[in-house]
Amino acid sequence: MLLTIATTYSPATELGFLLHKHPDRCQSFSLTFGQAHVFYPEAQPERCMAALLLDVDPVKLVRGKGARLEQYVSDRPYVASSFLSVAIAQVFSTALSGRCKDRPELAQTPIPLVANISVLPCRGGESFLRLLFEPLGYTVSDQSYPLDEEFPDWGQSQYFTVQLQHTLPLGDLLSHLYVLIPVLDDDKHYWVNDDEIEKLLRHGEGWLTQHPARSQITRRYLKRQHRLTREALAQLAEEDNPDPDSAEESHAEEEAAVEKPISLNQQRMNAVIAALKQSNAKRVIDLGCGQGNLLKILLQDSFFEKITGVDVSHRSLEIAQERLDRLRLTRNQWERLQLIQSALTYQDKRFQGYDAATVIEVIEHLDLPRLGAFERVLFEFTHPKIIVVTTPNIEYNVKFEKLPAGKLRHKDHRFEWTRLEFQTWANQVAEKFAYAVEFQSVGMEDSEVGSPTQMAVFSS
Ligand code: SAH
Repeated sequence: MLLTIATTYSPATELGFLLHKHPDRCQSFSLTFGQAHVFYPEAQPERCMAALLLDVDPVKLVRGKGARLEQYVSDRPYVASSFLSVAIAQVFSTALSGRCKDRPELAQTPIPLVANISVLPCRGGESFLRLLFEPLGYTVSDQSYPLDEEFPDWGQSQYFTVQLQHTLPLGDLLSHLYVLIPVLDDDKHYWVNDDEIEKLLRHGEGWLTQHPARSQITRRYLKRQHRLTREALAQLAEEDNPDPDSAEESHAEEEAAVEKPISLNQQRMNAVIAALKQSNAKRVIDLGCGQGNLLKILLQDSFFEKITGVDVSHRSLEIAQERLDRLRLTRNQWERLQLIQSALTYQDKRFQGYDAATVIEVIEHLDLPRLGAFERVLFEFTHPKIIVVTTPNIEYNVKFEKLPAGKLRHKDHRFEWTRLEFQTWANQVAEKFAYAVEFQSVGMEDSEVGSPTQMAVFSS
């Protein structure tokens, strides 16, 4: 059984860092059901391909079970199945979780990837294969095989050679394969219990709730066990449709959908992280942290020593906590994190003791008459050395195809500013509270309307 993953990201050999496997070496790993080998058939700066070869031992599979002869003769050693998922989770565990010590930003960056699966059993046929991968943005190519070339009347088999092509972070590709391969195979080699729900939700984070085939995926992933399927679907529905108090969540998704084509959130996070590192800010408080987009990145980067998230919404903090829980962090990593429920328009001693405060896409959620109170809380009482503020540039809204003319990007936005309005505000605040301020644009810059996000970095 062979899985290859190739990239043309430049330099392509960075794939070795992302997978934590050196392109010059061939490595082997012993698994309970056989051997996994990782090697690179190709490792050039222009194109690099990693291969995971799984050598499933058919005798080991049935040993001690009083097996009958036919159990020794199965397709398991030759096809992609739950054995491959286990191998991915063991051999590429760090990459699967979206982390990379040496290249933390690259692990989160969409890169061009092509995965080839030599033989994939697709119970449900080609249409089901496409139903699973195409909504996630993949270009799917496949080749099917006759059951027996000698007897064309028997028709086609359910085995396919599959190629999946997409530009996305490597961890996302691995998560999709981890979940969807056993779903296509519609079988699992081990007993499925409650732990399996947690695995499904963890690896399905960020894509499964919105997937049009989420019920089929869940049912098959949990080996059609009714109770487990019901529980998992209930949890997914809850993630998808939170309690009415937190309309914030669905709004956040709407905003993300508007901005998605340019993956603006990622570019924003990269710009913020770069500004923090440039100022050597190791202790960071994220004010209005929401569901923890920035916290997630900070926590996975050992540069940051103390990380605190603040939000007024209890529900958002709960979701942030759940999302961070799924990162499988070590105790040391966890000890750097704190979540605080508080409002940014009231003084709070707990905001003190940080090198930097970040306020990412938050000010536009404050009522304009309350902005003055927020300014005093942050710039006067808290007074960190560095403050990073981002907010939408309203001039750019005409470029978002999905956004009706004249509408703001989010139902809860009280205002959105032009570049001149934002810079006027920031310059006034800087002068009043003795900070220097510099501006940066984030996202693709348009010569007329500027970039989608505007960022100010204040330093005192
Ligand atoms: N910074 C996050 C979330 C942005 S959404 C990100 O970039 O993903 C804005 C967040 O600000 C929401 O989570 C909202 O609950 C929070 N917020 C709005 N007004 C607030 C206030 N007065 N005090 C604290 N948080 C507030």
